[in-house]
Amino acid sequence: SLNLNSGGCFDHSLLASLEEIPFRWCDERFNFQATFLQCLAKHVPNIYSAEMDPLLEKQEEMVQAAILYPLECYLFGEDPDIFLEKLQQSGTSQLCGKVFKGGETTYSCRDCAVDPTCVLCMDCFQNSIHKNHRYKMHSSTGGGFCDCGDTEAWKAGPLCTKHEPGASGSAKENSECQLNEEIMEHSRRVFPSVIKYIVDMLIWEEEKELPLELTVREKVDSYYCVLFNDEHHSYDHVIYSLQRALGCELGEAQLHTTAIDKEGRRAVKAGHYASCQEAKEEIKRHSENVSQRPLHVEVLHADVMAHQKFALRLGSWMNKLMSYSSDFRQIFCQICLEEAGSEKPCFISKLMLWDAKLHKGARKVLHELIFSSFFMEMEYKKLFAVEFVKYYKVLQKEYISDDHDRVLSVTALSVQMFTVPTLARHLIEEQNVITIITETLLEVLPEYLDKNDKFNFQGYSQDKLNRVYSVIYDLRYVLVSKPTLWTDRLRERFLEGFVSFLRILTCMQGMEEIKRQIGQHIEVDPDWEAAIAIQMQLKNILLMFQEWCACDEELLLKAYRECHKAVMRCSTNGRSREKTVFHLCGHILESRHYRVSADPVSIHLPLSRTLAGLHVRLSKTGTISRLHEFVSPEEFQVELLVEYPLRCLVLVAQVAAEMWRRNGLSLISQVFYYQDVKCREEMYDKDIIMLQIGASLMDPNQFLLLILQRYELTDAFRKMKPTKDQDLIKQCNVLIEEMLQILIYVVGERYVPGVSNVTKEDVTMREIIHLLCIEPMAHSAITKSLPENENNETGLENVIDKVATFKKPGVSGHGVYELKDECLKEFNMFFYHYTKTQHSKAEHTQKKRRKQENRDEALPPPPPPDFSPAFSNVVRILNCDVMMHILRTILQRAVELETHLWTEAMIQMVLHLLSLGLLEEKQQLQKSPEEEVTFDFYHKATRMGSSALNAVNVLMLLEKLKRVPQLEAQKDTVNWILQMFDTVKRLREKSSLTTVAATSVSEATKSDESTQDKEKAERKRKAEAARLHRQKIMAQMSALQRNFIETHKLLYENTLEAQGKEDAIMEEER
Ligand SMILES: [Zn+2]
Ligand SMILES: [Zn+2]
Ligand SMILES: [Zn+2]
Repeated sequence: SLNLNSGGCFDHSLLASLEEIPFRWCDERFNFQATFLQCLAKHVPNIYSAEMDPLLEKQEEMVQAAILYPLECYLFGEDPDIFLEKLQQSGTSQLCGKVFKGGETTYSCRDCAVDPTCVLCMDCFQNSIHKNHRYKMHSSTGGGFCDCGDTEAWKAGPLCTKHEPGASGSAKENSECQLNEEIMEHSRRVFPSVIKYIVDMLIWEEEKELPLELTVREKVDSYYCVLFNDEHHSYDHVIYSLQRALGCELGEAQLHTTAIDKEGRRAVKAGHYASCQEAKEEIKRHSENVSQRPLHVEVLHADVMAHQKFALRLGSWMNKLMSYSSDFRQIFCQICLEEAGSEKPCFISKLMLWDAKLHKGARKVLHELIFSSFFMEMEYKKLFAVEFVKYYKVLQKEYISDDHDRVLSVTALSVQMFTVPTLARHLIEEQNVITIITETLLEVLPEYLDKNDKFNFQGYSQDKLNRVYSVIYDLRYVLVSKPTLWTDRLRERFLEGFVSFLRILTCMQGMEEIKRQIGQHIEVDPDWEAAIAIQMQLKNILLMFQEWCACDEELLLKAYRECHKAVMRCSTNGRSREKTVFHLCGHILESRHYRVSADPVSIHLPLSRTLAGLHVRLSKTGTISRLHEFVSPEEFQVELLVEYPLRCLVLVAQVAAEMWRRNGLSLISQVFYYQDVKCREEMYDKDIIMLQIGASLMDPNQFLLLILQRYELTDAFRKMKPTKDQDLIKQCNVLIEEMLQILIYVVGERYVPGVSNVTKEDVTMREIIHLLCIEPMAHSAITKSLPENENNETGLENVIDKVATFKKPGVSGHGVYELKDECLKEFNMFFYHYTKTQHSKAEHTQKKRRKQENRDEALPPPPPPDFSPAFSNVVRILNCDVMMHILRTILQRAVELETHLWTEAMIQMVLHLLSLGLLEEKQQLQKSPEEEVTFDFYHKATRMGSSALNAVNVLMLLEKLKRVPQLEAQKDTVNWILQMFDTVKRLREKSSLTTVAATSVSEATKSDESTQDKEKAERKRKAEAARLHRQKIMAQMSALQRNFIETHKLLYENTLEAQGKEDAIMEEER
């Protein structure tokens, strides 16, 4: 029952109404809506009359007595307290649904959460199985929601013991308690009026008037000057403005300011219209003086203010009611959605659309209402999500121009819907949400487009971009769980979304081009952070798109076609350039004139990199054999695909050679992030893959000529004109080192699923092995150096025990992981993710270790895994003429002691390439009969390089290299290679013998029909099938290659002529 005594004095007319209204409301014939509004019209202005200095307790008592108590009596048909007590006993929701306050601790289980956005409140966590799992704690920014009970959020243990059905005592017998029909009927009658009133008053825009139904008494000239919160003005600005404008004391101004920050708005002056209007102008004037922008101030009639206040009170009353019963929630949701689907927005959409215009306090009530109703009922959550997506563009645009924090925006609710896998699926299929989000991005980003329709973020606003990021985040949420079941419609909609996303990437492909600064240093470092930050935001989204595409063969091919088209559209701008022709060792390259050191270049190539990502997935799934059905060999144009990523790698080389030092720090930073763990997967790594694609599809000599040309090293590998310019020589040497390194990566880096047959685990293990080859490391140090996936996981825990042992901390410091001995053989000195410092540290550590073990110091590359069929042609760049020429030229310079033209690092790389060539031939010989192995590295390396009198071959040069005093440190490696030459030679000889032997043995046992033979036959059949599959893919590859040759027919005819001659004929560029 109601306790009226504590409040003290009480208006007798209110008491009268208390007795009279429930009686009247219970009358079946009466018009509830009208009576309800009459009641509000009568009481609300009285209750909330003392706005400036309210007695909150008294206000609340009056509200209870005059309005809420009678309302509840009518609704429940009995004493509200007794009724609600009964309802409470009869069972609660299986969803916790606790809404987090800012700063509250949330828990996420790393083992069981479907994605990192799934969290538990402290209570639920403590009562769940997850407290014994690996978990993460976070401090909530506010506005989140406990996911306890959501079966889609957890792989295991979705319910804590508190929320398990039948957990709370008496709830066991009757957890599905339903309201009786009479109460349902009353609710259907009461809720619409309540909701309509809340909506009407929250979106009410008239300052002076109320809706007609609420206007009863004579209007008095009683107004408030109301000040609103924003994120632009500081506390001090507001206090200052208030003191100056109202002439009030500091204490009072502070009080107002605190209240405004908390509630979102506050009356700072009461009085007649004119005086409030005057105060308004004063506040605006003073605030504009201190901060360029006036504060938001309104003059509101006292009655308007009162009703708006009460509307919020009614909102929290609804919240309370809905916490008791699912029926209440469902009825509320139904009414809020009425007319959804028609032209006119339904109640809840009206409120959403008004969100950005509401003050802070009102927004909080609105969001709580959504949480306590729609988000507690899965079916209605879906319907709400549909409405949300329907108005998504408008809502995001409003948010982007809003000045309140994201937690206070209705757009922040997206995570609650988009990360639910079934909901995301539904929104993609039915609402096309991927396309909607990408189109929203395209619509809010145009202000950053330059004349070429590329993004350019010079002079961007950080706040605004942060708001744009939240749209990008929504894309991540929608994609975070990959569908297991694909329908035609899902496929269609996803592809549509992907194509729309490609349009964003098109605006990024080649954005923020830079040109090498010559002479003077640049004056101002250009803004680079925004573009890199967007790249970081997009990294996992790009990966997820690729993963989604790879779910389905047909989809992957279609996506590939679209992406290929997009890359081609962006690659046409160089068409007008003149062609140049470059000859070396009898091979000719004709290409468009372009120099990284003189022409514009961009580090941003997301389209090319997405294509590379799709290409490895084609290879991984074997779908590549059907590629020609989707992209014809004529259209493919591999040399154009390679062009831009290659330029980017050359840029990195030239930066290392200090050719770009006048371009300042901005470029250094970009190059850093390009290779950093935060970006590299979708930047640097993909560029290497694109080069591997080029190497697998182009003629190997052509490929290398293109590399030489883009590295601007064509002269360096022809007859050197002696130059005295030390700087130029040094620069050239660095470029050669950088190029050799890239060649090592193209041939040797195969730890990508699809490039070879490795798993993600293998990849992570290899990363960890190479980190620990530098030195033993703490868990945190390893984690920091590994890329995170879309769930913010590195995969470290799954594999660390396979490659390392944990060494407990000594007296000080923390424990570290040490590499297991058996993993040391995996060490690759030229691991592509090593920075220069890491590279030399690792080399040093490993050499020292070998010395301690009394072993030689040779650190040859570990045998790499076999390339997948689609990439198997890459190895041919090792034994082609141009490669031999490069290797020989460098070795010769070292042997002839032309000290300034070579470096030890260069020799190390040459030795590494030689090792890779020999390892490849050895592996091939061990697998197939000698006559089938066409990879003839040994043969090429032992052949004379020129017809000149002092002609030498690589093998001879190596022998001489041992005597070069500066290369003492490389002696062991040279010896290792010489041994390898010997091994390969023996294998060549031996394998021809063993094949003979093998045939004779099989001949002898031919008649034996043992099970062993059947197994053998089965194995053979499988091997044959695999061979046929490989052959098929190779046929596709050579079709692509033939086309390449076709387009360069003229050149090839020249080459064919040249082939008969010695392969080192030097020719000048035409
Ligand atoms: Zn909870
Ligand atoms: Zn719970
Ligand atoms: Zn768990």
